[in-house]
Amino acid sequence: MIDKHIESKVMIITGAAKGIGRAIANLFAANGYKVLINYCSSDEDAKELGTELAKKGCEFCLYKANITKRREVDEMVAFCVNEFGTVDLLINNAGICESKLFTDISEEDWDHMMDVNLKGAFNCTQSVMETMVSNKQGKIINISSIWGMVGASCEVHYSTAKAGMIGFTKALAKELAPSNIQVNCIAPGIIETDMIKSFTNEEIDMMKEEIPLGDLGQVQDIAECAWYLASAGGDYMTGQVLSPNGGMVI
Ligand code: NAD
Repeated sequence: MIDKHIESKVMIITGAAKGIGRAIANLFAANGYKVLINYCSSDEDAKELGTELAKKGCEFCLYKANITKRREVDEMVAFCVNEFGTVDLLINNAGICESKLFTDISEEDWDHMMDVNLKGAFNCTQSVMETMVSNKQGKIINISSIWGMVGASCEVHYSTAKAGMIGFTKALAKELAPSNIQVNCIAPGIIETDMIKSFTNEEIDMMKEEIPLGDLGQVQDIAECAWYLASAGGDYMTGQVLSPNGGMVI
């Protein structure tokens, strides 16, 4: 499973103290990547992940930064380059979601949703650009959602931001291909993380009925997709949307 060409490459992953980001950080760190693990408010989870990775002898840094703040992002990327020498892979994973009737979404809710899910990815991507372009190689993986593909009722702002991420991926893939930088998107279905913990058991059962494979996805399912895109096997992929979703969206 280890792809030799990837060993000792350097990656930044945002919002990775828990959930999908944590699983990705774990998989990549265990397989030779030097990983800068960004987190924002999940200090305890980040500390716990740090202890876990240190026990395994992985090379990593925990870095607290709010990805909506450009200055903090630039400092984080500069820290990564200083510490590990470069950035080969950026995974824009950090995100928030919210269930609200469209008429109840305030201007503040809207702006916050766009700031974290879209502007955060813009900030991080633009910030790693100089290094990747001068290296004439790099990979960017954006974590979108099936709701960005098909829309979710009572999640108009989330669906809009995640659809934006798909547009961002496709346009940037075209612009960066001549620099040998691949930009792809993973649009997960419903994955068992804190993001869905506000749903009742009854609601979760109803969701499962909508999934042809009959169950929610696990964080490892998304980590494996990211691994594929980052590996040599994914070198000819750019501008694509991979959607591990149990058949919920076909
Ligand atoms: P999660 O809530 O466990 O993880 C999201 C992480 O992003 C959290 O650690 C959070 O602190 C961090 N974050 C939020 N704002 C941030 C900021 N300003 N700066 C830095 N970090 C910030 O949820 P998750 O399910 O692991 O979500 C990871 C990604 O996957 C998100 O982009 C989410 O939209 C996407 N996604 C999740 C599901 C799902 O069903 N869980 C489905 C589709 C897509």
